[in-house]
Amino acid sequence: MPLQDAYEELVRLARERSLLSSCSALLSWDEQTLMPSGGVELRADQLGLLAGLEHDRATQPRIGELLALLEGSDLVNDPESPAAVNVRELRRQFERKTKLPKALVEELARVTSSAQHAWVEARRAQDFARFQPWLDRIVTLKRQEAACLAPGQDPYDPLLDEYEPGASAQDLAERFEDLRRELVPLVDAIRGATRQPDPTILARSFPVDRQRLLGELMASALGFDFQKGRLDTSAHPFCTGIGPGDCRLTTRYNEQDLSESLFGILHEVGHGLYEQGLEPEHFGTPMGEAVSLGIHESQSRLWENAVGRGRAFWKYWYPQTQRIFREALGEVSPDAFHFAINQVEPSLIRVQADEVTYNLHILVRFDLERALLSGDLKTSDLPGAWNDSYRRDLGLAPANDSEGCLQDIHWSAGLFGYFPTYTLGNLYAAQLFAKANETLVNLEETLTQGDSKRLLAWLREKIHRQGSRFLPNDLIEAATGALPHSGPLVQSLRQKYGELYDI
Ligand code: ZN
Repeated sequence: MPLQDAYEELVRLARERSLLSSCSALLSWDEQTLMPSGGVELRADQLGLLAGLEHDRATQPRIGELLALLEGSDLVNDPESPAAVNVRELRRQFERKTKLPKALVEELARVTSSAQHAWVEARRAQDFARFQPWLDRIVTLKRQEAACLAPGQDPYDPLLDEYEPGASAQDLAERFEDLRRELVPLVDAIRGATRQPDPTILARSFPVDRQRLLGELMASALGFDFQKGRLDTSAHPFCTGIGPGDCRLTTRYNEQDLSESLFGILHEVGHGLYEQGLEPEHFGTPMGEAVSLGIHESQSRLWENAVGRGRAFWKYWYPQTQRIFREALGEVSPDAFHFAINQVEPSLIRVQADEVTYNLHILVRFDLERALLSGDLKTSDLPGAWNDSYRRDLGLAPANDSEGCLQDIHWSAGLFGYFPTYTLGNLYAAQLFAKANETLVNLEETLTQGDSKRLLAWLREKIHRQGSRFLPNDLIEAATGALPHSGPLVQSLRQKYGELYDI
């Protein structure tokens, strides 16, 4: 069989699988935005059927045959060519899928589905003991999964690899420890500062239709293409790329809180710009797909935090925001507004955390989930270990398990190895933004004029259009000249909050 024919067949099979998964994505989007509650059971059946079809496609032996033909051939000589990238990544995906026994995959799906219900109940009752037997089963199954994927290795690595290809727990642990050493004293200093913001100015009355208007104006100005995307409302904000020409964002509005929708939108716009920047011609193959959750998150954090909480951005946007919310913000100075949107305050709940303390929430989870998987921590000891970590790193202890180790859905859904990608996103974002500032002359200056086109063009070239050409570490190195490290994030936080809090 001619190599080119084999490659084209492989691409066709990959695209069919991606089309199935884009159908699932659209149904999931609908489930969270528009579907009447009566549709729950039908939707579960629809999604279940599609997941089964997708799994069958992904594991068909023909893919293994085609990969074997193509690997080592002339077609993949250049490791950065689309063909080589697709063969490499499709092999990685194929191995993952085929190494897992079907019985284990089904058991995990069943257990995590029930466990999520148990988690909702336990959280409502503030009672970890109700959830603990489920967590026990999930940890056991995840260990089995890890043993199938990479026998004899640190069980965390193959699980992490699903979200952040090529990353290792040991490597992350070192980078995260550097970060903790810097962040804990910074948070302490901020806490002790005499200068403090007035967050109540963001808790006045902000009519929802005007919040929507401002959010859409900003999204368009940053380059989100509404001809190829939408912004809707859901209980939990998210972004889902359905495929070329169709990217869906959601947010939620609270009349008494401007920052929730605003920064939620900027965050999801960052994800959306990445999706809209992938090469349509490579749709359905790794060359046209986001490389990792960490890189995806770097795009959302870059626009939300590095740009969206910066002075330059608000120099342009604050006068307009004031005009839209004249009653609430008419008398509020730009400095007071900027300080309020950058308030740092240790809290117990991750999803409400600010830019500085957020990472501490993640480091706690990373350590604990590693210890659970290795067996160093028994599930029955989790609440105590959680509370000790919060006391040590954030200086606070939860009053109950619902504001402690029961707050996140991830573990009940079997998502071990997922949390660190949030902090990786922050590290990558800071490193990319520092490099962009170095490369693009007067970037801050143009941001004050409401022009972020050059920044977007740079990200398109360095990140979006690269798809999965490089593994995350190599992608960051290619874009910034250095492997990912915590330096740029620490430096930017120190400088920004040092000025704001006068510490
Ligand atoms: Zn995100």
